[in-house]
Amino acid sequence: MSELNLILLGPPGAGKGTQAERIREDFDLAYIATGDMLRQAVAEGSDLGREAKRYMDAGELVPDAVIIGMFSERLRADDARDGFLLDGFPRTIAQADALGEALMELGRDLTGVLLFEVPDEDIVRRISGRRVNPGSGRVYHVDFDPPKVAGRDDVDGSELVQRDDDRPETVRKRLAVYHEQTAPLIAYYEERGLLHPIDGTCAPAEVAEHVRRSLATLQREQDF
Ligand code: AMP
Repeated sequence: MSELNLILLGPPGAGKGTQAERIREDFDLAYIATGDMLRQAVAEGSDLGREAKRYMDAGELVPDAVIIGMFSERLRADDARDGFLLDGFPRTIAQADALGEALMELGRDLTGVLLFEVPDEDIVRRISGRRVNPGSGRVYHVDFDPPKVAGRDDVDGSELVQRDDDRPETVRKRLAVYHEQTAPLIAYYEERGLLHPIDGTCAPAEVAEHVRRSLATLQREQDF
């Protein structure tokens, strides 16, 4: 079967990470989430992490040169050879161009871009209520997916926290950045016939079903 090379596109908090978990269970794809890679660099206190943190805390994008360098290296890792799932990259036209060039060099193609559509008001409600266990990365929501004991992880009981960049004022900034710098990718991939819009306002299980149908169609078209 031919490889699936996918991009998950959409505003922060549109459910890309949640859907990515399910897609990875169904298809064996390397999951590349630049936000996770940056948070890891911050936790390790590397030079990259120190530089990135300033931008992340402000809700701004880390400069293209930094991200493209980090991403290109990751794309060439062994596990990404048979297909990948990108979450949070590309976020600018320059990053999309860099991805296109890297794939051309490797003689590979993008299979499709899943666009998760969710209105801004829903995003602010979703992200501001998000709480994470910093150790395991497990995610909860104070209204939609609360832990059994408020503020505590269900599995190991550790304290749940709000990510610095999940505060309401930072969320609004991240949304503004999305509309200004990332949304132009919608037309970019539509022109290339790669865009597959998904209604991201439904319940996660329903969104997952829609995603599964889109991916099955993509795979059939590719194998044809
Ligand atoms: P995320 O977890 O994908 O929402 O990313 C968290 C933060 O990391 C973003 O708000 C940006 O500051 C930074 N970031 C992640 N991916 C990128 C990217 N592709 N380009 C620029 N900045 C990024």
